[in-house]
Amino acid sequence: MRASRFAASYGARVAVAESGRFGGTCVNVGCIPKKLFSYAAHYREDFAVAKSFGWMLGEPKFDWRTLVVNKDREIARLNGVYESVLAKAGAKILHARAKVIDAHTVEAGGERYTARHILVATGAWPQVPQIPGRELAITSNEAFFLAKLPRRALVVGGGYIALEFASIFNGLGVQTTLAYRGPRLLRGFDADLGERITEEMGKKGIDIRLQTNPAKLDPGIRVTYEGGATQQADLVMFATGRKPNTAALGLENAGVKLAAGGAVAVNEFSQSSVDSIHAIGDVTDRLNLTPVATAEGMALAKTLFRNEPTPVDHVNVPTAVFSDPNLAAVGLSEEAARKRYGQVDVYKTAFRALKLTLGMHEERTFMKLVVDAASQRVVGAHMIGPDAGEIIQGIAIAVKLGATKAQFDATIGIHPTAAEEFVTMREKAD
Ligand SMILES: Cc1cc2nc3c(=O)[nH]c(=O)nc-3n(C[C@H](O)[C@H](O)[C@H](O)COP(=O)(O)OP(=O)(O)OC[C@H]3O[C@@H](n4cnc5c(N)ncnc54)[C@H](O)[C@@H]3O)c2cc1C
Repeated sequence: MRASRFAASYGARVAVAESGRFGGTCVNVGCIPKKLFSYAAHYREDFAVAKSFGWMLGEPKFDWRTLVVNKDREIARLNGVYESVLAKAGAKILHARAKVIDAHTVEAGGERYTARHILVATGAWPQVPQIPGRELAITSNEAFFLAKLPRRALVVGGGYIALEFASIFNGLGVQTTLAYRGPRLLRGFDADLGERITEEMGKKGIDIRLQTNPAKLDPGIRVTYEGGATQQADLVMFATGRKPNTAALGLENAGVKLAAGGAVAVNEFSQSSVDSIHAIGDVTDRLNLTPVATAEGMALAKTLFRNEPTPVDHVNVPTAVFSDPNLAAVGLSEEAARKRYGQVDVYKTAFRALKLTLGMHEERTFMKLVVDAASQRVVGAHMIGPDAGEIIQGIAIAVKLGATKAQFDATIGIHPTAAEEFVTMREKAD
């Protein structure tokens, strides 16, 4: 979408082949419906909080069909918007699966098209481990269209999609288990975040089982874990990784090198081993996030059609996990910072958000700054708590600009907010 639109605006003649619905994963089975579901799930707690502010409500009741129908209507609207934006930009739209034939030829809908440049932006697809009974399980793709909510769900995985769906199911009243084969959730994030989110999600009622991995599924659904323990679930969802969509795309025949795992191997300008073929987004398996894919698309359009070679800077990309509570981070984890800089200063704070102080809520907001001791630059900012993504987005600008801890401290807070804690942390953690 973004690469085509920008390329067209720089004067290129563009055709886009899309075999599914416009907007890709993010709009149809990713970020957008996921966040809508996450809002829905959070209402349960919001109703409880409202009571502590004096609001008397009847027993709230949740209707899954209403949520799915309303979500589908909004997504259909977005599909239309995306397609018409492309058409207005002057791109030729092909509703077809495309296949690369050679360095300058693509086949789509039974026709062959030649072009000076070919861009592969085919995304990725969820992977389910090869265990007996795997066909009984679903992935995030299906979770958005369930006919009804299960009574008991097992979500398998320890990454952001697993945490988000476990929180969604739990918030909507499903008895939820989260099983992860590793010792800590959210590998790659700061260890404090992984440990504390396990605690917070556990407090909200999710049965979190670490170092636990299903070995087989039998109809029912009866889950047998490695080690022999069993569990009954009405729904099993695997969120155990995604694989780049390069199968049967004709890339190898055209001479395009794929990395292990099937991603298109590209250089900093998103160029593959074949000069005229580029690739961006999840199919390159660099940083699999929508704003990164769109940034890569815009950079490529500038490189190819505005004569401005533009690499994409993948450093200090902020990211959020819309679990309950939310979590977000930018920059380095403490572990990564210690590896890179040797000596680091760490600042941490944990507290109950003001909005939760009138009730019996146990959720704790957590914030952490990681500072390179030598330069005093803030090299990592981490948070668990309401609106973590909204807050870290602002902090990310400061981190990207290389702000020092003293500059954070010189910034006056907005009171009373949670975000102000990021500019008032004075005590170094041990
Ligand atoms: C459950 C879930 C939640 C997510 N949440 C977030 C989030 O909150 N924030 C975030 O930043 N990212 C999130 N992501 C990741 C985000 O969706 C992806 O990083 C982003 O969509 C990548 O964009 P892309 O253009 O590379 O690929 P995609 O969006 O996957 O688009 C690829 C498109 O190519 C089409 N296609 C594939 N093969 C062919 C072919 N041969 N011919 C024609 N068309 C083809 C597909 O139909 C698809 O429309 C989430 C992903 C998932 C699965």
